[in-house]
Amino acid sequence: MINQEEFFKKITSHAKEYGFVFQSSEIYDGLSAVYDYGQNGVELKNNIRAYWWKAMVQQHENIVGLDSAIFMHPTIWKASGHVDAFNDPLIDNKDSKKRYRADVLVEDHMAKIEDKIAKEVEKAAKRFGEAFDEQQFVATNARVLEYRQQVDSIRSRFFGSLEKNDLDDIKKLIEELGIVCPVSGSRNWTEVRQFNLMFSTQMGSTVEGASEIFLRPETAQGIFVNYLNVQKTGRMKIPFGIAQTGKAFRNEIVARQFIFRMREFEQMEMQFFVKPGEELEWFEYWKQERLRWHLSLGIPSAKYRFHDHDKLAHYANAAADIEFEFPFGFKELEGIHSRTDFDLGAHQKYSGKKLQYFDPELNENYVPYVVETSIGLDRMFLAVLSHAYAEEKLEDGSERVVLKLPAVLAPYKVAVLPLMKKDGLPEKAREIMDILKQDFMCHYEEKDAIGKRYRRHDAIGTPYCVTVDHQSLEDNTVTIRDRDSMLQERVAIDQLQGIIIAKIRK
Ligand code: ATP
Repeated sequence: MINQEEFFKKITSHAKEYGFVFQSSEIYDGLSAVYDYGQNGVELKNNIRAYWWKAMVQQHENIVGLDSAIFMHPTIWKASGHVDAFNDPLIDNKDSKKRYRADVLVEDHMAKIEDKIAKEVEKAAKRFGEAFDEQQFVATNARVLEYRQQVDSIRSRFFGSLEKNDLDDIKKLIEELGIVCPVSGSRNWTEVRQFNLMFSTQMGSTVEGASEIFLRPETAQGIFVNYLNVQKTGRMKIPFGIAQTGKAFRNEIVARQFIFRMREFEQMEMQFFVKPGEELEWFEYWKQERLRWHLSLGIPSAKYRFHDHDKLAHYANAAADIEFEFPFGFKELEGIHSRTDFDLGAHQKYSGKKLQYFDPELNENYVPYVVETSIGLDRMFLAVLSHAYAEEKLEDGSERVVLKLPAVLAPYKVAVLPLMKKDGLPEKAREIMDILKQDFMCHYEEKDAIGKRYRRHDAIGTPYCVTVDHQSLEDNTVTIRDRDSMLQERVAIDQLQGIIIAKIRK
């Protein structure tokens, strides 16, 4: 058994070795927390985006798409609250000169105490065997109760101070808890400061005439400010949704874990406009609908869980995350938020333009409420990739690395392989390639032994390999090999297309 850290390292190096993900600006030693997608990565990423778009826009008659610009009027970010409140509290260690998020330091500390509780439970479970009653144990064991009390009191003090923006107290808390810098091991901390995560730049040519604008930290605001344009021109009736995918930028303080937390990333968001009072029903609906989307990819439900927020952002009246079990544990993959009329109301106020809906059934105007679903495309990429990666021992004793990607997401659907580079086999294979490439991303390969070519396609997740052999020339049949079972069946060339379509739809 390899541990999770090693497993994660294997995935990142596999992603690089097989052209999925490269460090940005690598020949200049890279740019921190920015990544490029290579020849296979771009296909996988496009396919995830298309799979989302199909489920959200194509399959919902009352959801339409949008592609708004990254640059927007700076007042939008004032209205949305990002200028004033899109902050993380940061703290530096004076010895290592490393920068940390104060909230992450405190949360890691609480997680360590939680681990101690888990260890106590584990020990007791061993000691008591079958008679062990975990619920009773955690409710009565003195040591566990003491740990639990510690976590609760840290949490309430920390969130209380954060809410009051009492940064001095957060520093005091870090000192009192004896939290040390993981690099220098020292407790020599600076003050805690708020750090705004938005990137800004100048629009306009002269410094005096230029205005400061922001790179959007989320795609959602582009939807809100176009709400009326789309509603009116599309004659949309509530409830309806607007979906958008696109780049977002956040100057993350601690950006690690590969493409999990990047400074430039892509979001897939949908804002669903509803009648006030109906938002919580729709919130439940979208929670279930989005989970259904994840499960439709064939990833087991045990890899997912909901995390309902008890501490809500000021604009939300309900919020939940869909968490995925990444190689480094369960972490947020998607957020579903009931945002009330906060955003439309704020834009109405700041722009002076009415953003209301005339409800013909009620014969009245109102500002709609909004339920949003927001997923990071790159995080979804990492979820899919880490779930798909497998190392297998084969019957003949050899090993293979295979990406068991859902066929619908795989970069190439089919590899077309002449068994040998002679006897007219390449020509026949090219004919097949020319037919199949009209419908699917196909890859033609004639170099190396067939076994080696199969391995290469296993490693990039190609679900089907079509092999052209001497019999193909006689009876117009080929073999089709399944990536996961490695079984081959012989089929007629003129049925190939239909067979592959059926397999991919499955
Ligand atoms: P986190 O708590 O992990 O920072 P968040 O709560 O700030 O995430 P949201 O603002 O709800 O995230 O953004 C919606 C989605 O966008 C997230 O669920 C995640 O998938 C994605 N996302 C957010 N920040 C990043 C990032 N820095 N890199 C990659 N994806 C991100």
